[in-house]
Amino acid sequence: VYAPEVYASSVQEKSFIMIKPDGIHRGLIADIIKRFEAKGYKLVAIKVMVPSKDLASKHYEEHAQRPFYPGLVTFLSSGPVVAMVWEGKDVIKYGRKMIGATNPLASTPGTIRGDYGIDVGRNIIHGSDSVESAQREIALWFGAGELAEYDLAMGKWVYE
Ligand code: GDP
Ligand code: MG
Repeated sequence: VYAPEVYASSVQEKSFIMIKPDGIHRGLIADIIKRFEAKGYKLVAIKVMVPSKDLASKHYEEHAQRPFYPGLVTFLSSGPVVAMVWEGKDVIKYGRKMIGATNPLASTPGTIRGDYGIDVGRNIIHGSDSVESAQREIALWFGAGELAEYDLAMGKWVYE
């Protein structure tokens, strides 16, 4: 029996997932979206954009002191990126599992980085690493009105 109140009460969280410029130029947009969609997660926001240097700097501000930071910001702001918000049970932690390790050569085959990447500075995709960073990143990349609220028809077949 479909019980929306049960579905709604399972821990639904949101993660900021971004296909980086290399992922777009590599033609991986559809494959990446397909993986999250097929898993059972719900897409609640998506846009293609060339981020400003300011936005890219803020996104990676935790790494401001690292030697790779300037190159990382230049790379990200070269664009385009596909910025997304995916929603579902444990999507932050499980999304990171689907993405794989930071270094693609240390990523398990079957993960996005494991299947498609080689160098750490060209690792295709970003995913939030905690509830706090997800909230910060979603607010940084999207306005409140840009997140769609809806019940996914397949929700009752994904959640018990
Ligand atoms: P992530 O959360 O797995 O994306 O990894 P981090 O938060 O540690 O780093 C953010 C991003 O910076 C990574 O996805 C890489 O693109 C880049 N990065 C991290 N470490 C290095 C490094 O040692 N060299 C270079 N060139 N880029 C790095
Ligand atoms: Mg990170």
